[in-house]
Amino acid sequence: MLRIRNLKCYYGKIMALKGVSLHIGQGELVTLIGTNGSGKSTLLQAICGLMDHWDGEILFKGVSLRGFDPPAVVKEGISLVPEGRQIFPPLTIQDNLMLGAYTRLRRGARQAVEQDLETVSQLFPVLRERAQQLAGTLSGGEQQMLAIGRALMARPRLLVLDEPSMGLAPLVVARILETLANLRREGLTILLVEQNAQAALQIADRGYVLETGRVVLQGPAADLLADDEVKRAYLGKDYRDFDEGR
Ligand code: ATP
Repeated sequence: MLRIRNLKCYYGKIMALKGVSLHIGQGELVTLIGTNGSGKSTLLQAICGLMDHWDGEILFKGVSLRGFDPPAVVKEGISLVPEGRQIFPPLTIQDNLMLGAYTRLRRGARQAVEQDLETVSQLFPVLRERAQQLAGTLSGGEQQMLAIGRALMARPRLLVLDEPSMGLAPLVVARILETLANLRREGLTILLVEQNAQAALQIADRGYVLETGRVVLQGPAADLLADDEVKRAYLGKDYRDFDEGR
């Protein structure tokens, strides 16, 4: 569904991605992990039409995304749940959700949009219960649910998430990731960028490890979880405790 070949991204003269290649098949949940500054957000920005300077190839369903601006990328079927959620605090929860369907509403798809509102409400009942509440009054976890709900309102083929676990309590993270795993089971294709490598690899089919702008490891998620280098560099003490059955 998505194929990236030899992607190089530049901020002025700085090359932030140095020739990244990856692919995501239809219905897969693929995770991209890596430390701060490894280039994860840059890669997502390139996919979503937010990078000015890049070389290489980004193909979505066989179509090159070169020259596509963010609304055109959304129309093509890719929705981003951005880092830090970026919801609109002074608007109601319902208005935030409807903004996710903005381009579809302009095309007159009101009935389908109302159906999707219902689907998102079933996925996250709290968003229905508080539909008229201002989004800024939600907790961090609820705001993350809203950001995911808003992205789903565009009815994407590929859902892209930038660090959805950031700043959330472990129980809330578990709830969000379980929702992503369910969406994947229902057939949605997902690219999940995470610093929380352990949690991401536990729900992913495959993973890529990015380091200073390059893919240094890739493979089935179970293999990466068992990889000594990944354990040492990305999974930390909690994982070792878990691994040793303590
Ligand atoms: P984080 O987890 O901290 O968001 P990341 O893996 O998403 O990190 P990026 O934000 O993609 O990493 O950054 C990759 C590299 O590009 C870093 O060296 C960063 O300093 C640099 N970079 C990112 N944004 C800019 C920018 N607007 N101008 C210049 N350099 C940038």
